[in-house]
Amino acid sequence: MAVIQFQDVTKVYPLPAGDVVALDGVSLDIDSGEFVSIMGPSGSGKSTLLNIMGSLDVPTSGDVYISGSRIGVMNDDELTLLRRDHIGFIFQHFNLIPLLSAVENVEYPMILRGRKTEARKRAVEVLAAVGLEESLYTHKPNELSGGQQQRVAIARALVNEPDFLLCDEPTGNLDTKTGTGIMNLLSRMNDGGTTVIVVTHDPRMTEYSNRTISIVDGRLA
Ligand code: ADP
Ligand code: ADP
Repeated sequence: MAVIQFQDVTKVYPLPAGDVVALDGVSLDIDSGEFVSIMGPSGSGKSTLLNIMGSLDVPTSGDVYISGSRIGVMNDDELTLLRRDHIGFIFQHFNLIPLLSAVENVEYPMILRGRKTEARKRAVEVLAAVGLEESLYTHKPNELSGGQQQRVAIARALVNEPDFLLCDEPTGNLDTKTGTGIMNLLSRMNDGGTTVIVVTHDPRMTEYSNRTISIVDGRLA
């Protein structure tokens, strides 16, 4: 089953100096269970592709289906619910909430979904699954290393069982060894059935994924 479908997708940014074509006739399918890396030079359209896959943006023309919903016809509230209920986001800078502890950061998306009573138990389970030491569960993000923060962020992204994980340079802020640990973790999550999509400059990621999509000048190469 396809979790993401692009059919002849174009994204144009109108600028005073002339239109910028960020995506130019992109068609692709990503199936449930895949581990896909998306690579390309700076300015090739990776962020634009990622924003549309994350239903943060909609195409100028063409059709995009995310978890079966056609996003071009949805309003902002519908897109917000689609993101909340179906997509787990992982970022280069972790984007944890600074005032909340590790376990509270992971509980938070469950509380937003009205799952407060089961939140602590589930958050602890997922933190164990991503390999964070139990003594760190009550630490705030600024008391954790980069690799530890990314593990918390991955737990937070997984806690509501999304249809897929969308990762934007997940190792971009980590040293080589820590980055390898995070790639291994994503790979292990994929072995467990999680669909993983990673936009990255890191060529090592292609060794972990089952498919690499290359983008150049807004077109799939
Ligand atoms: P990448 O992530 O591969 O660096 P982007 O998707 O950010 O590529 O950019 C693709 C092209 O679209 C670039 O020429 C970029 O300058 C342009 N672009 C991206 N976002 C915007 C925007 N919000 N407004 C105008 N131009 C943009
Ligand atoms: P990345 O490191 O992911 O490629 P960028 O620096 O290309 O990030 O872009 C960061 C953000 O700025 C993106 O969300 C992109 O849409 C936006 N952006 C990129 N280029 C432009 C532009 N020329 N005008 C306006 N926004 C842009």
